[in-house]
Amino acid sequence: MRIAVIGGGVSGLVAAYRLRQRLGERVDIVVLEQSARTGGVLHTGELGGGPVDLGAEAFVGRRPEVLDLMHELGLDDQLVRPAGKRPLVWARGAAHPLPGRTLMGIPSDAESLRGLIDDAGVHQVATEPERPLQWRPGGDIDVRTLVADRFGTQVVERSVDPLLGGVYAGISASIGVRAALPALAAALDDGAPSLTDAVRRVLPAPSSAPVFGGLRDGYAALLTALTEAARPRLVTALAATRLARGSGGWVVDPLGAVDAVVLATPAPVTARLLHYVAPEAARAAAGIELSSSALVAMALPRDTELPDNSGILVATGEPLGAKAFTLSSRKWPHLAERDVALVRASFGRFGDEKSLSWTDDELVTTAADDLATVTGIPITPLATVVQRWPGGLPQYAPGHADRIATMEAAVADLEGLALAGAYLHGVGVPACVASGTAAAERIALVLPY
Ligand SMILES: Cc1cc2nc3c(=O)[nH]c(=O)nc-3n(C[C@H](O)[C@H](O)[C@H](O)COP(=O)(O)OP(=O)(O)OC[C@H]3O[C@@H](n4cnc5c(N)ncnc54)[C@H](O)[C@@H]3O)c2cc1C
Repeated sequence: MRIAVIGGGVSGLVAAYRLRQRLGERVDIVVLEQSARTGGVLHTGELGGGPVDLGAEAFVGRRPEVLDLMHELGLDDQLVRPAGKRPLVWARGAAHPLPGRTLMGIPSDAESLRGLIDDAGVHQVATEPERPLQWRPGGDIDVRTLVADRFGTQVVERSVDPLLGGVYAGISASIGVRAALPALAAALDDGAPSLTDAVRRVLPAPSSAPVFGGLRDGYAALLTALTEAARPRLVTALAATRLARGSGGWVVDPLGAVDAVVLATPAPVTARLLHYVAPEAARAAAGIELSSSALVAMALPRDTELPDNSGILVATGEPLGAKAFTLSSRKWPHLAERDVALVRASFGRFGDEKSLSWTDDELVTTAADDLATVTGIPITPLATVVQRWPGGLPQYAPGHADRIATMEAAVADLEGLALAGAYLHGVGVPACVASGTAAAERIALVLPY
């Protein structure tokens, strides 16, 4: 019995691990990965005397998937929590506290925005519940249209975009309400009389429990443990080029015949591989766009007087190249122990990817200059690492949930084929772990033993 997992990102590695758990040593699990290393957009490098994550650096700890997986893999001692500091937002040439009690930047009260937006904007937010809300139950629109209509564009550009930029490398105009904020869409479907009311209904109760977690040695620790536990045959630096039905199973070029396949590839690759075997699913996947980003990790002198915040997010329309800074040594207590101050600068959003064409030197210079601008202090990096993520994140555009439902329905009858990945039911690592687990369950159910 031979199972191919195409794509060695976290979704694929989790699928391989769950298949090994369910099916034991009797199966030959092959992970086929086109690049020279596994992990996909999870990648840990070295800077400032230790590991630093150059892709994802955290996970939502209110979801159980990553915490459970770490526990299973004996990684409890790797769990680290952020210090609980808040980020700032850079807007109109000044740093402001990020408003509290928002849903992805959509406010639940007007006062939290005072100073970040002008008084007319605060008034518009405060009086929003007085204006009748038009919402078609079951419908979907982009986040920008919804929030700009109710709260004004300043709220979009200074509160919502900076947060969406972090999660999707997108902007509110490219992200649909239903897929990105399903609980909010459900509250609106249920007849919430205003956006303010809908946000209040779905905001989690205030809690002192940490929202995020991370790994002391970076995501590399999770990838190594997953690979050891999955014991797959790893085939790297080789891309899957074609998928076809075979006698009683599947044929994956260039691997050959297999009994089952997990496609854990980004949406456009999945679309190409499904082209002949599930044309409707392929069409749906082909409509999912990707955003690209780049990251500059900087080691600064330890005594650099960075603000005491977890990061600085940049509002849409500011004359800066960077879109966000993570003040890693402030955000994570375990990184504060290093001999240097660590900062990550992020570049690129959907529709604004010019920084991806910059040279490494241009990215590093812009990162340092922009950080000096937003902190007001001189920035002199001692060492830097540049990492690009072309097509790193799928965009959850309006209609995304329907698109995914179409895809899943179109492959439902294809026995021995399962899909996993960040484009399905959430881009975060916990959602990817869940998708890898679900794909393995689907395959395990239909294998003859
Ligand atoms: C810069 C950045 C920061 C992020 N930060 C966070 C964060 O802090 N917290 C969080 O929860 N999430 C974060 N995310 C999101 C999260 O990391 C990703 O959504 C998740 O890791 C995606 O995993 P995946 O396995 O689905 O896809 P990928 O990691 O994209 O893996 C897909 C794999 O398929 C391979 N592949 C492609 N084509 C082929 C082919 N033809 N044949 C074989 N292999 C192929 C690719 O090389 C890749 O290795 C971040 C994402 C980015 C880009």
